[in-house]
Amino acid sequence: MASSGGLSLVRRAVEAVRRTPRWQKRLVFLTVGVGTVSYACQDNRVLQINEGSTGKKKVVILGTGWAGASFLRNIDTSLYDVHVVSPRNYFMFTPLLPSVTCGTVEPRSIVEPIRNIVRKRGGAFRFWEAECFKIDPTSKKIHCRAGDGTNVDGNGEFVVDYDYLVVTVGAKPNTFNTPGVVENCHFLKEVEDAQKIRKSVMKCFEKASLPNLTEEERKKNVHFVVIGGGPTGVEFAAELHDFVNEDLAKLYPDVKKYVNISVIEAGDHILTMFDKRITHFAEDKFKREGIDLKTNFKVVKVSDKTITMTNPATGEIAVPYGLAVWSTGIGTRPIIMDFMKQVGQATRRVLATDEWLRVNGCDNVYALGDCATITQRKVMEDVDAIFRVADKDNSGTLSVKKIKNVLGDIYQRYPQVELYLKTNQMKGFHDLLKDKESEELNIEEFKKALAQVDSQVKMLPATAQVAAQEGAYLADCFNRMNTCEENPEGPLRIRGAGRHRFKPFRYRHLGQFAPLGGEQTAAQLPGDWVHVGHSTQWLWYSVYASKQFSWRTRMLVVTDWGRRFIFGRDSSSL
Ligand code: FAD
Ligand code: MG
Repeated sequence: MASSGGLSLVRRAVEAVRRTPRWQKRLVFLTVGVGTVSYACQDNRVLQINEGSTGKKKVVILGTGWAGASFLRNIDTSLYDVHVVSPRNYFMFTPLLPSVTCGTVEPRSIVEPIRNIVRKRGGAFRFWEAECFKIDPTSKKIHCRAGDGTNVDGNGEFVVDYDYLVVTVGAKPNTFNTPGVVENCHFLKEVEDAQKIRKSVMKCFEKASLPNLTEEERKKNVHFVVIGGGPTGVEFAAELHDFVNEDLAKLYPDVKKYVNISVIEAGDHILTMFDKRITHFAEDKFKREGIDLKTNFKVVKVSDKTITMTNPATGEIAVPYGLAVWSTGIGTRPIIMDFMKQVGQATRRVLATDEWLRVNGCDNVYALGDCATITQRKVMEDVDAIFRVADKDNSGTLSVKKIKNVLGDIYQRYPQVELYLKTNQMKGFHDLLKDKESEELNIEEFKKALAQVDSQVKMLPATAQVAAQEGAYLADCFNRMNTCEENPEGPLRIRGAGRHRFKPFRYRHLGQFAPLGGEQTAAQLPGDWVHVGHSTQWLWYSVYASKQFSWRTRMLVVTDWGRRFIFGRDSSSL
């Protein structure tokens, strides 16, 4: 039947062509012809790259998160043979992950298939959905394992060689080896985690509604505990509070009175990375809304029924719970630990790179994002050499004008110093230089001020902002590798001759948000601008909509927000 149907279709098509006027026939043939040729050309290009006969250097990227996707989006694929290995074939917009836990935003609205990102730029690359389990920098190879074993040995393992390796594997949740956490707590790191939390929240409500339950049992089922008072934990608690009050309270009127949300924090305060005004506002808001904030409590054990914590005043207490979300920070992935041992960084806690994102202790491997930190050289290590050049007559003093020049040079070499001075308003330091253009300044005094900056400069935070900027920076360096080889643009080398090829990575802090629920968001923008309220919630909506990776996800996210405004969040335990 099918084949005779197919034949009659062909016959009808031939008839139709016969009946068609000549110019229309030409148009059809031209269209089909051009289509076939362009398809063939496209295919050739892909084949060429697949065969690795391009003569281009091979860049292998591990990971498709903020750093990896940003690198991929910016790398010129006509210059390099680009290969990507990641267990995830999509990029995920992590800042909206807490919204997925309560159905404010749907999971597929915050992900972008990685192949879309490159296709849109007309680039070509190869992608393997697999996990890299070993980096071998000596033989310049990586060992990978795909989920479904399809090779001859049936273990799904394969080896990829590289000329340049860009490691962007991110980090894993840190449990501090607390017993029972892995078995009993939810994490909030991947889309799957958020989906599981959403389902579990609904399960807790349904369980608490069952007949024949004691009051204690109902309370236990809807006791939601968030461990960790950082931005992720706080945002999840706020989302959950909104979900309960705006949607679930109407659907589960008998359960509502039993609901309790607790946030447990080992330190004195929550949101410590934000300005104190934001911390205090958030703490007051949570207290007003009945969110139980337990600061100075350290969780020591989690069983399937209770969470045990200690506090200097109360000693050890165990509280029953229905759902626990562990969000206390990040730790190093095993593959990075193993790699660190190989490159002489075994004693460190985090993989170290230099200011150009090159891994210390090995060649042609770059690491960016949450899996690495930039070891910012101390200004004081080089300060004598810098001043020796500036203070030619060895007088021990310099005019303020000259000092400003030295500072410009220092900013070039140590972007972190500039960042620190600009974001931390180190007024004392700038007072030294204010309105004194003609004055001479004691170099030792200036060095003391620099030493103070040195001691206070912190490592860059593990955020999407840093990871994305690092990805774009490194891709730009790769794209200009040849030009900068001939005309180096970096600062003069203090040890050794000539200049560095590139300027070091410079982070631009664009500010940070902390959504606190009830359509209120705290914002801390550069220039010490702090604001909390409904207006900043709208700023948050517009910034996060604009930061989406594509128009497709932007539309999806905005539609989800609109749907939530009109119909509320969905409560099915899907
Ligand atoms: P990731 O984005 O985690 O990506 C790592 C990638 O590597 C993934 O694709 C992963 O699948 C892959 N991978 C893992 N192991 C391997 C392996 N062995 N081999 C190959 N590939 C591997 N930051 C902000 O600036 N603002 C925010 O509002 C914000 N909100 C957040 C909310 C949540 C819930 C979370 C979890 C994080 C948030 N962050 C935020 C932090 C931000 O998401 C991270 O700093 C950022 O994702 C780091 O980027 P990355 O590329 O280093 O790692
Ligand atoms: Mg980092």
